[in-house]
Amino acid sequence: MKIFKDKHSLRKEILKTKGISFIPTMGGLHKGHISLIKKSKKFKFKTLVSIFVNPKQFNKRSDFRSYPRNTKIDIKKLKKLKINYLYIPTFKDIYGFKPKKKVFLDKFSKKLCGKFRKGHFEGVLNVVNRFIEIIKPKYIFLGKKDYQQLYLIKKHIEKRKIKSKIIECKTIRENNGIACSSRNSNLDKNQKKIASNIFYYLSDLKKKMKKKYILFNINKIKKDLVNLGASKIDYLENYNVDSFKKIKKPNSKFNLFFAYHIKNTRLIDNI
Ligand code: AMP
Repeated sequence: MKIFKDKHSLRKEILKTKGISFIPTMGGLHKGHISLIKKSKKFKFKTLVSIFVNPKQFNKRSDFRSYPRNTKIDIKKLKKLKINYLYIPTFKDIYGFKPKKKVFLDKFSKKLCGKFRKGHFEGVLNVVNRFIEIIKPKYIFLGKKDYQQLYLIKKHIEKRKIKSKIIECKTIRENNGIACSSRNSNLDKNQKKIASNIFYYLSDLKKKMKKKYILFNINKIKKDLVNLGASKIDYLENYNVDSFKKIKKPNSKFNLFFAYHIKNTRLIDNI
């Protein structure tokens, strides 16, 4: 595994290859990231993982500061996985140039997380656009855990006629049901139990919605989540996963999208 800290040496190296499969991450690597990497290794191109905690996608400085970082352990994990390249850029390496393409931000960026984290998706698209320009990957592997992010990156790529293809990867969960996330390391045992109870409660609810073909009173469900131990609910909404339109009746394609807080930790998921 070769490690790069600047785009010029990285570009020099990858120009020699036939193509790159790219997995962008913010580090704090867990089973979710590892599943993306393992999938990428099944494709014919070399695997490049990036670790960059992008300050521009955090709407609160305190959230950026407390985001879990553990580069030493991450490097060990990546070596074991035998990836080809690891790119750990500095802020200047990413933001010290003007990208050729302008970011396209679909209007869906104003919904769900976009409503509660002002500037978040602008920050995500900004950094992804820059990574794409530096790496020019053939494939980009993204997790469905962050479905809204995945959708918006896809729209940007389509609109700007970028040649990279998105590979959608399924959500990996802990044994207790909660989606693997770097932020889970900020939860104590009791908080993990709360998150697990919320996951099972919402999974059951979705099953009931599909079986009985009815929508439940979302405000009542939000109250139930607070009773289960959530400190605050940002949103809980049903969307069709292809069109990203709100559903009027539960059909086979909808997912429940939710974001909530347990004390200082914000968790997002969709089931
Ligand atoms: P992050 O480091 O949180 O920015 O995530 C990097 C990539 O890993 C994104 O494409 C995420 O959607 C994906 N990812 C994060 N958690 C999971 C998970 N539990 N299952 C699958 N993919 C995930």
